[in-house]
Amino acid sequence: MAHQLEVERLSHSWIEEIEATKRRLGDELLILAHHYQRDEIVKVADFRGDSLELARRAAASSAHWITFCGVHFMAETAAILARPGQQVLIPRADAGCFLAHSVDRVQLLDAWERLSQAIDVERELLPVAYVNTSAEVKAFVGERGGACCTSSSAGKVLAWALARAPKVFFLPDQHLGRNTAHALGIGDAEIALWDPNYPPEDLSQFRRARVILWRGACNVHVRFLPEDVTRVRKEHPGVRVVVHPECRPEVVRLADEVGSTSHIIRVVEGSPPGAGWAVGTEHRLVARLAKENPDKKVVSLGDPPPYCAYMSLIRLPDLARVLSGLLSGEEPGLVEVPEEVAGPARAALDRMWEALDDGR
Ligand code: SF4
Repeated sequence: MAHQLEVERLSHSWIEEIEATKRRLGDELLILAHHYQRDEIVKVADFRGDSLELARRAAASSAHWITFCGVHFMAETAAILARPGQQVLIPRADAGCFLAHSVDRVQLLDAWERLSQAIDVERELLPVAYVNTSAEVKAFVGERGGACCTSSSAGKVLAWALARAPKVFFLPDQHLGRNTAHALGIGDAEIALWDPNYPPEDLSQFRRARVILWRGACNVHVRFLPEDVTRVRKEHPGVRVVVHPECRPEVVRLADEVGSTSHIIRVVEGSPPGAGWAVGTEHRLVARLAKENPDKKVVSLGDPPPYCAYMSLIRLPDLARVLSGLLSGEEPGLVEVPEEVAGPARAALDRMWEALDDGR
């Protein structure tokens, strides 16, 4: 108990320091927090949201400094979409993403080269990159006429890409790719998996495939298993199961609902009092949903519930250090993307809006 009080006292003093700096910097500063961030970070942020929502929020604001409390690819995306003169900072430069780290440009060039032995890659293959990728991967995709997608736009972007090329190279989340392809009526017989660490000698399956998936996955969402769905339905009779599309297809098939973090929030908040939900996504969001919806039962689909280690890195002192740096004329944790990378990466992001407009 004494320990808990000490933790609360320390948090309180960091929060006071951060709030005081925010008052001094005024409209020059915008603090953004992803839904998977710690509660105390969400509390001091100006906005919380998913990665693209936050990047767009940043670009639409007049703030000069955008402090992005999330993981590195999100801050990079915000930097790519930022208006001239805006600077994006991340309080922990080591806040990576297991999924984004599963693909890099060198591996992609290698895959492209190998696949070219079986496919006319320039004419037949269009790459689609989930936003959970580095700027250099987005640039690779942009340079080849491909598009980015989010978990909520993946269906429309995949349909857009398949209307332009006979084959799509979807990276890096194999489960999001397979779930999205299934939702469009594309079966497993038309899907092939590219393993960058063990590239196959026999390329015939890629010749036949309409969708080629990169063998990456989010180590939080792969933790949910079909037996979790069975267990949670037994433990909480009447509960509905909602999962993120980065979950395994076997889990998605058993769930009542599937959708992005924003979709998950909408279905839980929009359900009537007394509703019960087992949620298959990062636990900080699930715990916050439970706290903010006391008239509903909200539990994790996982036991134990999974946390994202990278999303857990940013703490109040990290944020306070960035803000006090700004007051002293420094820009700690500045995220810079050179224009030769940002340009094609932006083109891939722009094509996502184009795909969404096409799909209306
Ligand atoms: S939850 Fe998964 S996809 Fe999201 S930041 Fe963490 S590792 Fe990456």
